[in-house]
Amino acid sequence: VLLCTWANDTRGQYFKYKDPKQSLPARIKDLMQRMTLEEKIGQMTQIDATIASPEIIKTYNIGGVLISPPARMASAEAWMNMADAFQNGSLSTRLGIPIIIGTDAIHGHNNAYGATIFPHNVGLGATRDPQLVKRIGAATALEIRATGIPYTFAPCVAVCRDPRWGRCFESYSEDHKIVQAMTEIIPGLQGEVPSNYLRRFPYVNGRTKVAGCAKHFVGDGGTINGIDEFNTIIDWNGLQNIHMSAYLDSIRKGVATVMVSYSSWNGRKMHANHDLITGYLKRRLKFKGFVISDSEGIDRITFPPRVNYTYSVQAAIHAGIDMVMVPYTYVEFIDALTSLVKKNVIPMSRINDAVERILRIKFILGLFEYPIADRSLVNQLGSQEHRELSREAVRKSLVLLKNGKNSDEPLLPLPKKAHRILVAGSHADNIGNQCGGWTIEWHGRSGNITIGTTILTAVKNTTDPDTEIVYCENPDSEFLKSNNFSYAIVVVGELPYSEYFGDSMDLKIADPGYSTINSVCESVKCVVVVISGRPVVLEPYLEKMHALVAAWLPGTEGQGVADVLFGDYGFTGKLARTWFRTVDQLPMNVGDPHYDPLFPFGYGLTTTPRELIAAQ
Ligand code: BGC
Repeated sequence: VLLCTWANDTRGQYFKYKDPKQSLPARIKDLMQRMTLEEKIGQMTQIDATIASPEIIKTYNIGGVLISPPARMASAEAWMNMADAFQNGSLSTRLGIPIIIGTDAIHGHNNAYGATIFPHNVGLGATRDPQLVKRIGAATALEIRATGIPYTFAPCVAVCRDPRWGRCFESYSEDHKIVQAMTEIIPGLQGEVPSNYLRRFPYVNGRTKVAGCAKHFVGDGGTINGIDEFNTIIDWNGLQNIHMSAYLDSIRKGVATVMVSYSSWNGRKMHANHDLITGYLKRRLKFKGFVISDSEGIDRITFPPRVNYTYSVQAAIHAGIDMVMVPYTYVEFIDALTSLVKKNVIPMSRINDAVERILRIKFILGLFEYPIADRSLVNQLGSQEHRELSREAVRKSLVLLKNGKNSDEPLLPLPKKAHRILVAGSHADNIGNQCGGWTIEWHGRSGNITIGTTILTAVKNTTDPDTEIVYCENPDSEFLKSNNFSYAIVVVGELPYSEYFGDSMDLKIADPGYSTINSVCESVKCVVVVISGRPVVLEPYLEKMHALVAAWLPGTEGQGVADVLFGDYGFTGKLARTWFRTVDQLPMNVGDPHYDPLFPFGYGLTTTPRELIAAQ
């Protein structure tokens, strides 16, 4: 591992900013004094890995690189090699300022093949277990570092108020208090802020931790009808109470960066909102990390995008954005910002504020001392320990919504020994469907996309060897009648999606999910397991089911589902969202007048683990 304490260059000249023994302010000040306008504006620019090269990074003094999905790199080593190549481009600039490379590791290191994929936030909210989420943060940090990356665009602290929003699964809850509690992921990702540390100052503890990013500032989860990137209409008190509160917690926990939302607040684009970004976040809340735009976010300040690019750049930088994520194009952005500064439209003080913040995080992250990937960490990617942790999270995220039909005995926990079990449904044997969006691909993808255990495999692993398991995705009634099944596990749900394309106005599960429920539950005692990023339409089918489990988007460790279905563990999850009856009730959140859900916020039946039943 390269330790770059080259405070003295080849000519024996001493550079204060390269000396780790100097104080942080002294290093920042020294480096700032040496930088040209060109070098400063370069620091404010983040480009996409698909167009980045060491030469471009060097030529434009680029400050950041985004690795967005699909990353298409087969191994941790391949990631590290790429990261190091970019870093070498940066280190060969005049001042050798390291680049900061970031990726969206939002439920584990989800862009990397073979990484542990944790349940999406909607499931973690149901665990009500911030300490578990903190451990997930620590495991995720290790897996990101295992690929040579020091920065993730997580956590999403959106408070999703309408499940029609295609990013609802990135939100822990409709209730801001749960989102606030789950900011415990930040000390997991970045390290626990020491008690003697400057209050509210960004903090990242060394090379097994990563810089985090609270996003999307602010009100992303409150848009009308849950339309992505749209307008959140709410008064100042509502904005503060519901959508802003988790930013206070994030800052208290030392979050390194904050990302601005594509959405608008009361008709004003967040990317141009000086009052909220500079006035509130930076001045009032005293946030000292850097503010990053969303990808091409500044381009979308006008509609249609880029009608007047100079105006967009001016508005965004004036508003207080420090690093611009993937502006289209970076050359135009750099040119526009340079001329705005030269014409005194953007004051130099604003540029200095931005660059100081970016350098602060780079110094805190230790990038100057350790710019190169630590190859001793490669085995952390997808490690057994992390998979066990994810499996635990799956178990705790499951919410039991129904157990037993009419006056029947409860169906769960299921016996491991039975004559013949049917496993059915489009999501029973599908890792991609289990993981949802932001997994390998931006929108996720059905099928065998990465390493993991499907629910079908998990059922096989868990049941008695003499129990016959029959898997049929969508069995017909003939088949169902002629097979004498002891019971059935029906796994259905939504197909993967992510932002923008994920909005749904009908909130139905994918075909032929409902007909699979109907036909199986008509002939066989059935437990329905729903894989979805949000509550979906279920009321018309509820009557037919013998048991119903919300499994959210559990990720790669399907074994956690079988652990609980078969009673090795009990059900403990509680809804962190309101489960509506019909979409015309939406938006409907706990505390609303006329609250009439199918299952209320906080609902969740429990079961006793088999071991405890036996002991009684
Ligand atoms: C999303 C962000 C994400 C960024 C980088 C954007 O489209 O809104 O959440 O961090 O892309 O991939």
